[in-house]
Amino acid sequence: MNDLSSAPFAPPPVIHRADYRPPEWLIPQIALNFALSLDATKVQSTLKVRRNPAGDATTQLRLNGDALEAKAITVDGHPHNDWHMDGSDLVIDLPGDAHDIGIETLIDPTANTQLSGLYASNGLLCTQCEAEGFRRITFFPDRPDVLSVYSVRMSGDKAAFPVLLSNGNPTDSGDGPDDTHWAEWHDPWPKPSYLFALVAGDLVANRDSFTTMNGRKVSLAIYVRAGDEERTDHAMRSLIASMKWDEDVYGREYDLDIFNIVAVSDFNAGAMENKGLNVFNTRYILADPETATDGDYDAVEGVVAHEYFHNWSGNRVTCRDWFQLSLKEGFTVLRDQQFSADRGSPPVKRIEDVRVLRAAQFPEDSGPLAHPIRPDSYQEISNFYTATVYNKGAEVIRMMTVLTGMERFLKGTSLYFDRHDGEAATCEDFVKAIEDGAGIDLAQFRRWYEQAGTPKVTVEMAHTGSTVTLTLTQTMAPTPGQPVKQPMVIPLRTALFDRATGQHHGEELLVLDQPSQTFTFEGFADAPVLSINRGFSAPVEITAPITADDLVFLAAHDDDPFARYEAMQQLIVRHLVAAISGTMSDAERAAGRAAIGDAMGAILDDTALDDLMRGELLILPGEAYLAEQLTRADPTRIFAEREGLKRWLGETLKDKWLALHDRCSAVPYSLDAAARGARKLKTQALVHLAPADPAEAAARAKAQYDSATNMTDRQSALMVLCSLSVAEREAALADFHDRFAGNMLVIDKWFSLQAGSLNPNATEHVKALAQHPDFTMANPNRVRALWMAYAVNAQAFHREGGEGYRLIADLILRLDPINANVAARFVSSLGRWKKVDETRAALMRAELERIAAAPTLSRDVREQVTKSLE
Ligand code: ZN
Repeated sequence: MNDLSSAPFAPPPVIHRADYRPPEWLIPQIALNFALSLDATKVQSTLKVRRNPAGDATTQLRLNGDALEAKAITVDGHPHNDWHMDGSDLVIDLPGDAHDIGIETLIDPTANTQLSGLYASNGLLCTQCEAEGFRRITFFPDRPDVLSVYSVRMSGDKAAFPVLLSNGNPTDSGDGPDDTHWAEWHDPWPKPSYLFALVAGDLVANRDSFTTMNGRKVSLAIYVRAGDEERTDHAMRSLIASMKWDEDVYGREYDLDIFNIVAVSDFNAGAMENKGLNVFNTRYILADPETATDGDYDAVEGVVAHEYFHNWSGNRVTCRDWFQLSLKEGFTVLRDQQFSADRGSPPVKRIEDVRVLRAAQFPEDSGPLAHPIRPDSYQEISNFYTATVYNKGAEVIRMMTVLTGMERFLKGTSLYFDRHDGEAATCEDFVKAIEDGAGIDLAQFRRWYEQAGTPKVTVEMAHTGSTVTLTLTQTMAPTPGQPVKQPMVIPLRTALFDRATGQHHGEELLVLDQPSQTFTFEGFADAPVLSINRGFSAPVEITAPITADDLVFLAAHDDDPFARYEAMQQLIVRHLVAAISGTMSDAERAAGRAAIGDAMGAILDDTALDDLMRGELLILPGEAYLAEQLTRADPTRIFAEREGLKRWLGETLKDKWLALHDRCSAVPYSLDAAARGARKLKTQALVHLAPADPAEAAARAKAQYDSATNMTDRQSALMVLCSLSVAEREAALADFHDRFAGNMLVIDKWFSLQAGSLNPNATEHVKALAQHPDFTMANPNRVRALWMAYAVNAQAFHREGGEGYRLIADLILRLDPINANVAARFVSSLGRWKKVDETRAALMRAELERIAAAPTLSRDVREQVTKSLE
């Protein structure tokens, strides 16, 4: 992962899914002994190795290493000299079929800026081993299909490391010499090395317990730094609810006597599902009203659930190889989405999930890094922890639930868990279990695992006599390495509405599995209004003959809440796409705006809507999704048209926005749906008022900021102030910084708000913030807070002249040697050059080429840059 290649002309090897071979050796047991220290931790590993009867015959045992040096090697207790290094791997010659191997390594956690393997974070020692971090701790067959029982002993300074944690159950502990102590842990469940974890440091715990469906009491603990424990109650509630939900819905019971979570502030990803010892980024654990927004609360609940659910979908049944990553991630994302839907509002959760998919995954599917949810090849697996593998992976399994219904689907998942418990499985195993358990043929459906790209479905509707005919045609654009696509299975929940009654004739599931297919419907005196892909039953793009009037009708009347949202989005998308393409007359613009204004006005007035749902209906389609609708566009033009519409809506509906802001400001803080809905609407009101009446919006935002009792209100007020060039802006930013000084997660918000701002000077602000004493390249959250917020801020990033591109390229080059995993995540923002105007495209390419020409690059960045230039 931090493998710095100094030979730019020797591209890193490509790993192919088709080349999978079973492991030659198995490691039924491993004992690890850590002599802990922040800068020199000694690791003694003892492996029981057994020749795998199913593996190729060889006398060599290959153990992966990354930046490791073997200090002493023993075989069956004796010093052994028949070994050599092959690159960074250790290769040991073995005479027999079964041996005990001893290996000693010495590692420096403080020097580990990659945050992969064993590293130091503020005096704490912790690990991140997925995907290939274990090989940075000790030599091992670091692949997910080698499952071992782990025994771990740790010893270290008692004052520096009062808490010593690993997977499984604590078995023994005691004091050692010179103010040291030690602890032993044993995990009875065989697991791959990527699920190993160790944490040592000065931590306090919030403790609770959960009694499983079979009456076993599980001790729960969430470990954080002293002072943070008050902010862990929401995470604990979420954990307990997740444990119960997985029993109730999927019939999955927890399987150890303890479940520990540790929150650390330096973490590359969101969290990690290590067996019995989840390690989290603090941002997905810590929450209280003053420092966390409603969105943060939801994210904590969702990620705690996600990691807990991995105990079955990931740990009890793991992945055979990393090409199968979506087996655990797609399925687990689906499970966390279903859980969060059950905990809150299902339609609102569905809309949020689709918004994320469209903003993050659709662009991936149409760009240079497009890949199937089960990729065929990679250079660096860390680059495949993507919205495609995670979020589209979840959509693909969700389609199975649409085809079978939840009840039959759960028969399939039960069979999957039973059949493969304790195994390293494949996506194919999952599909087969759903076929067998749910009783469905998924032969053609498997193409969702094979083909990259978002299918496009075009609908034609004819009405003759009382018959309605729908002709559905699917196409899929080529993606890298896949010039020709085969037809997919696309389940579309569909309804046809009578204009006169406002009712439909019953929803039907249309399954499109041919290039083109016709469906007929009887009993329609008049041509109906089409409502298709209800609930977003398939992750596709639809082009359908629905007039603007019909969209207004559906936005007001569809009984499927997602379809209502979708109608509203379509109405706006169509208008903005025409406006951006420059194919719109003034009269058309006025008519388009009037239709949108009427529909929004109706939504603002609709007393039957709950406020959380109302908030969704009022949010304008995102810039990334708009860009997807255009072959090639000037991003600043997308921005300007979207802002122009927002301003017009702010002016035209001003009284309604003001009344809404007044009504919602009177709702006291609580975490219930009504109060959260009110806060969401306050934000929407201010966001629309800001461009229309900056003085009024600034005054209201300042008042909201000053009187805020919670972070949702405070952050949205500050966001609005930040976008305006008004006097209140500086004062509010300074107050925010002072008020939350020392709270890393809140200071991250302070960086993000400015970097992601609509303010025309955002680029200048970002350049200054990069020099701020609070900015550091060592902390991934901070890097993302500033630079990811900037990279997705289209009006700033794409500013004329290419300064935004240069800033991101500079960042990638400076960050790469420090943290390659995080650096590589920024490449895709430059990789979208084919979707922007030619002037910008050339500037973006030039920056990619500048990165590619760097003398040393990580495998992570090199893979993404090379692919982005193709
Ligand atoms: Zn996951």
